[in-house]
Amino acid sequence: ERVGYALVGLGHLTLEEILPALSTCRKSKSVALVSGNPEKLQKVARQYGIKSENCFSYETYDQLKDNAEVQVIYIVLPNSMHAEFTIRGARAGKHILCEKPMANSVAECQAMIDACQQSNRKLMIAYRIQYEPYNRYVREQVQKQEFGKPKFVDAYNCQSSANPRHWRHIKALAGGGALPDIGLYCLNTTRFILGEEPVEVSAYVHSDPDNPLFREVEEVCTWQMKFPSGVIAQCATHYNVHEARQYRVMTERGGYELAQAYAYSGQKLTTSRADGAIVRQEQVSITPKNQFAMEMDVFSACILEDKVPYSGGEEGLQDQRIMEAIYQSARERRPIPLPIIEKKDAFR
Ligand code: NAD
Repeated sequence: ERVGYALVGLGHLTLEEILPALSTCRKSKSVALVSGNPEKLQKVARQYGIKSENCFSYETYDQLKDNAEVQVIYIVLPNSMHAEFTIRGARAGKHILCEKPMANSVAECQAMIDACQQSNRKLMIAYRIQYEPYNRYVREQVQKQEFGKPKFVDAYNCQSSANPRHWRHIKALAGGGALPDIGLYCLNTTRFILGEEPVEVSAYVHSDPDNPLFREVEEVCTWQMKFPSGVIAQCATHYNVHEARQYRVMTERGGYELAQAYAYSGQKLTTSRADGAIVRQEQVSITPKNQFAMEMDVFSACILEDKVPYSGGEEGLQDQRIMEAIYQSARERRPIPLPIIEKKDAFR
């Protein structure tokens, strides 16, 4: 039995990644679509064999309540709309898979968690990297301390964009610039790999004042995070650098370097290990899997087996809390302490 998904928002991610991935899922299938554009809605519905009575607008969205075929609503809208559509979806009695970043403020994240709890529905944030095999391998090796204790992480996620009218460059819709959109991968993946929570952040934010792309949202953000074990992570994100998406984890007796770490595919992992005076380098090869299909099937399994998803609402809330501290640090030009949070289940 496959769990039925309604996709909300028919933009790039839905059309190019999520709908094709759903066709390959073992436990998930697309059964409904929600869009503000009626022509696109009909066209995509025909392409994926979705019944016309299962096509909704943002206004008729709440009628999903009466649709027994839909168990999950997957929210793939601009960031500022995540909270509203999650809350309305939970009230319609559906489980929610919500794209990253979870929302634009800690208050919105909390309201989303509360709404899902009140309706007794599950909430998962779509952190696809947590389901990607190379990143999972690095996490397992680092936490087993294969090459000794981790000491430094350095993580970059950069891309270039050109359209100042796109919602990603409008603060009210995007919440911020490079940080919540792509820097978030450095933040979330570092927390995921280390299995611990930062206790302090220190950050720098900058935008070229002459570039219309960055009138409202930041172009660059770099930040350091200090972890209770002593690990220091150095992270950077840029909206005006050609694709750079890699990280390194440096440990007492070696390290891991993951190229294309946050890409949809093409990860390349190199490990190096001290063997006496010699450094042994190795390319690790793992069978790639479609991250979107993995992520949706994991959520469907949580619903079928009544389990708690491990990239749940608390995970999105914690990232939002840290991002707010990052902006505060840059604004006030000082390190910001974070509340101490124990990981309930570090190694999973
Ligand atoms: P997009 O601009 O391609 O699509 C957004 C969709 O929302 C469009 O179909 C648009 O018509 C619709 N929309 C509704 N109201 C809108 C409004 N007021 N302004 C603009 N668009 C409006 O964006 P996308 O790249 O598909 O991103 C959608 C979400 O998915 C974002 O939250 C983004 O962060 C996330 N995302 C995640 C990944 C990932 O790898 N997990 C990758 C890309 C995007």
